[in-house]
Amino acid sequence: MKFVYDFSEGNKDLKDLLGGKGANLAEMTNLGLPVPPGFTITTEACRAYLRDGDHVDGLAAEIDEHLTALERQMGRRLGDADDPLLVSVRSGAKFSMPGMMETVLNVGLTDASVAGLSRQAGGNDRFAWDSYRRLIQMFGKTVCDVPGHEFEDALHEAKTAKGVTDDVQLDAADLRELVAAYKKVFAEHTGHEFPQDPRDQMDQAVAAVFRSWNADRAVLYRRQERIPTDLGTAVNVVAMVFGNLGADSGTGVAFTRDPASGEQGVYGDYLANAQGEDVVAGIRNTLALAELEKLDKRSYDELMRIMATLEGHYRDLCDIEFTIERGKLWMLQTRVGKRTAAAAFTIAAQLVDEGVIDLDEALTRVTGAQLGQLMFPRFDLAGDPSALTRGVGASPGAAYGEVVFTSERAVEAAAGGKPVILVRRETNPDDLPGMIAANGILTSRGGKTSHAAVVARGMGKTCVCGADQVAVSGTTFTVGETVVEEGDVISIDGTTGRVYLGEVPVRPSEVVQYFEGDLDPARANDPLVAAVHRILTHADSRRALRVRTNADTGTDAARARRFGAQGIGLCRTEHMFLGDRRELVERLILARTDTDRDAALAALQPLQRADFLEIFREMNGLPVTIRLIDPPLHEFLPSLEELAVRVAVQHEHGRRDEHDERLLAAVRRMHEQNPMLGLRGVRLGLVIPGLFAMQVRAIAEAAVALAAEGGAPRPEIMVPLVGAVQELETVRAEAERIIAEVIGDSPVEILIGTMIEVPRAALTAGQIAEAAEFFSFGTNDLTQMAWGFSRDDVEGAFFWRYLELGIFGISPFESIDADGVGRLVRIATEEGRAARPGLKLGVCGEHGGDPDSVRFFHEVGLDYVSCSPFRVPIARLEAGRAAVDTDGSDHR
Ligand code: PEP
Ligand code: MG
Repeated sequence: MKFVYDFSEGNKDLKDLLGGKGANLAEMTNLGLPVPPGFTITTEACRAYLRDGDHVDGLAAEIDEHLTALERQMGRRLGDADDPLLVSVRSGAKFSMPGMMETVLNVGLTDASVAGLSRQAGGNDRFAWDSYRRLIQMFGKTVCDVPGHEFEDALHEAKTAKGVTDDVQLDAADLRELVAAYKKVFAEHTGHEFPQDPRDQMDQAVAAVFRSWNADRAVLYRRQERIPTDLGTAVNVVAMVFGNLGADSGTGVAFTRDPASGEQGVYGDYLANAQGEDVVAGIRNTLALAELEKLDKRSYDELMRIMATLEGHYRDLCDIEFTIERGKLWMLQTRVGKRTAAAAFTIAAQLVDEGVIDLDEALTRVTGAQLGQLMFPRFDLAGDPSALTRGVGASPGAAYGEVVFTSERAVEAAAGGKPVILVRRETNPDDLPGMIAANGILTSRGGKTSHAAVVARGMGKTCVCGADQVAVSGTTFTVGETVVEEGDVISIDGTTGRVYLGEVPVRPSEVVQYFEGDLDPARANDPLVAAVHRILTHADSRRALRVRTNADTGTDAARARRFGAQGIGLCRTEHMFLGDRRELVERLILARTDTDRDAALAALQPLQRADFLEIFREMNGLPVTIRLIDPPLHEFLPSLEELAVRVAVQHEHGRRDEHDERLLAAVRRMHEQNPMLGLRGVRLGLVIPGLFAMQVRAIAEAAVALAAEGGAPRPEIMVPLVGAVQELETVRAEAERIIAEVIGDSPVEILIGTMIEVPRAALTAGQIAEAAEFFSFGTNDLTQMAWGFSRDDVEGAFFWRYLELGIFGISPFESIDADGVGRLVRIATEEGRAARPGLKLGVCGEHGGDPDSVRFFHEVGLDYVSCSPFRVPIARLEAGRAAVDTDGSDHR
């Protein structure tokens, strides 16, 4: 196995092996762009290291070989005392994980080579000692776990001793002393001296980068982003170039289009006389890229040419990191850039217009999750609230909440159900839990490329960065005279960058308004709305899956239809038994005689018929799957505790209420230890005479009524919780009799089918299909019963631990467990279709609107998915994506 690749050996399609950074450095090298020479140690080497520990067979020899080649190419030896080669050791996984893993710069500097570096830099001692102290600090922190604040304290002391406030005011002698102080800190914490063998430094740094794959924050980030845990990171060893050699040097980050809005034109930040991560970390406020043209026109022009080359080559928005070392431009990184949801749609449509990609490819450039983000509301500024201050709109959305200043407080407050805004000077990877918990993030430093901005955009979380009037101190921040304390409410607008005091009302998204058909005509040409329309229409033309909705009311049905639903896949009838109809359900449950029970059912029937008629009207011409009543009937009665207390109080006051006492007795009688596995679903229909019959009759009558009005009802009656074909056959026989009686010669056709939500039903699907014209997978119950997880309890109870242990990367109630529950779906699909070739197959559990699950259902070959109205456009898009892109794993 080959573990190490020179940049000239790789290419952009080797991300699995070389990580994103390594693959793209190789691609740029092959394009002839100015990339500092280097090599990449593969993700396979990382996996071997994490599995076998320090000794990976053959790795050291391969590194030797590539290092020697690099030294030859550079004409310098690593850490040579007279003329040292220095390298950076950088992580780079297949999927970008900004700031999550480690990087060590200036590797190769030692007590001996620091003078050599100074000579290389034209006798710049200050630069050499500054580079050395940065190495000790970074190496100490990332390789040897020395607490970072120890170094910061030493730096602070050095500045205080000299009476200065800024790092740049320390001269060479000060920095030399600082190096001595840092070495002391290092030795105290590690029990050994700072390593003076350059190759040993490099090996230790490589191992630390490997290990950083499993650092807590990286694990958390992967979970959040649904990145698999077993990929490992590659390590790039790159000859150092320096952006901190003076005013003619610097470092920057840039995008080939605006990653927030998608607008054409380069965008970026530049920081003169700075090294490596200073820009990304948002430590100092940066210059706009355009300023570079004034500072160094030659480098600027070359950068513009390179960015055009990269966009043309990758056929997409690229982001880059670059360094200018004494007027010479070097490319340190490129990748297809992260972007906001709005920019993703806008850019994809622009690229189609520019003839760069076709609509199929445009479809792979956007995701259902991004469309979901665009369906969030935004601030309503009609009252013209004046902004407290303004920063950079770094990740769109509207968020309000109580101000908190630390990640810990954010987590605590959010756990207590409070919306919070995390306010920081700048964020770093340790803030990740708080960023996840917060509704939004506000920082006072850093631009669109700072850690806060990049991470928030990735999460789809509202973020305003670089609000430099915000002065954060302890548990308050001030803007001029205004003091904002922890717990005060603020609102932040991630699109405009505005920050408001108090809670600003929000307004709906224009994408939703477009679906609803009530978009302000002035906005009809909005590029975002036009892009969504175009791409979604294309998805519709490509998808094999139909998309229905779960809706129980005419209002929901009508809305879902506007969102593009092609019918109802699940109408839960139990919601129709609530409110003032509860009393009728009580009568039904308390009935002492057949006559009492029939009277209660007879009273319910016209109400049900009216419910169904309204829904059939809204879905005229489209299929409507109505599920017969499913939940345990005691759910319609007061709780045991409530009734017991009520009756006890009555007794205490010497009163008796016969109704309450009968109810209490009924609730006691009906009490079950495991109600979700008890008397519910089809079992109710088999046990309570007339219950299903009443519903079937109401459905048939409503259909006949609509047909009589000239409509085209397409009802489908669905029986829940079936586990054996005999259950279905019994219900079916009665239903067919009633239907025949009601419809007479009306041109109404009613299908009868079943949910597949009990594992036994999936495993005997061939038998069940004999009695079913359709199956709808109830993946909520199927997941519950396949895993044995109570769907109402486990997510809050212990899933955190399962996620932590990597037993699964995401709750199986959220995204289908393809191996287990998904296997049941596959078996039932195959065996059901074998038994009845025309069998219609759909899914109506929550998974029907989950992007990854939609892809799975497409692959299994279902006919439709059904989801809540708001997720209908997401499912349409994802079904289209699945159809054009069978291997969508890279399109996240
Ligand atoms: C299911 O179990 O997946 C389902 C759709 O039914 P419910 O959620 O109503 O149990
Ligand atoms: Mg169910």
